[in-house]
Amino acid sequence: MGTEIIDKVITNLGKRNIGAEYFHSLDEAKLRILDLIPTDTSIGIGNSQTLKAMAISQTLSSRGNVVYDKTFAKTKEESKRIKKESLLAEWYITGTNAISSEGHIVNIDHSGNRVAAMIYGPEKVIIVVGTNKITDSLDAAIQRSRTHAAPLNAKRAGFNPPCVQLKKCVDCKTDDRVCYNLVVIEGQYVKDRMQVFIIDEDLGF
Ligand code: SF4
Repeated sequence: MGTEIIDKVITNLGKRNIGAEYFHSLDEAKLRILDLIPTDTSIGIGNSQTLKAMAISQTLSSRGNVVYDKTFAKTKEESKRIKKESLLAEWYITGTNAISSEGHIVNIDHSGNRVAAMIYGPEKVIIVVGTNKITDSLDAAIQRSRTHAAPLNAKRAGFNPPCVQLKKCVDCKTDDRVCYNLVVIEGQYVKDRMQVFIIDEDLGF
């Protein structure tokens, strides 16, 4: 992706009180995260293919951080508990579904724990995103979330809503619906509470 659009995203996120940094690789961003987060803090993790590829939960946990990552849970009850605990963690690290060049951060969520933590609770939030998720406009970011991210996430999680076959959203009301929350983060009240790490790679859905 051209540097012009990345510069535009970083500038526009800044105008919304959201910090942003650019990295050439996932490894580079991981080192920055490990440097930024103290070893004696707690961290909630939003379920994300990008973070899985980074293996950030395992690394933070092995160096002594308290990590709330629902993918570590062995039962549904444990997963529910971890999701609640992650809302009160000091830090939260997550992926996202799309970012517009104007700086809107768009996510589509099933139960909503991930967007809840992004919006309020943790003192600091880091969003890790590949350049493949940057779009030209807010409309395109919403479209990307609905028609691209939602069906792929549904399939990965073992759900089968109509969009998995149709490759488009039909605003279904099925039991397999995965997008009960479509959230646009427009900015932050607390300056630099949220930071976006943009990585020059294709990452996640
Ligand atoms: S509302 Fe239904 S069809 Fe549309 S993206 Fe969500 S799960 Fe797919």
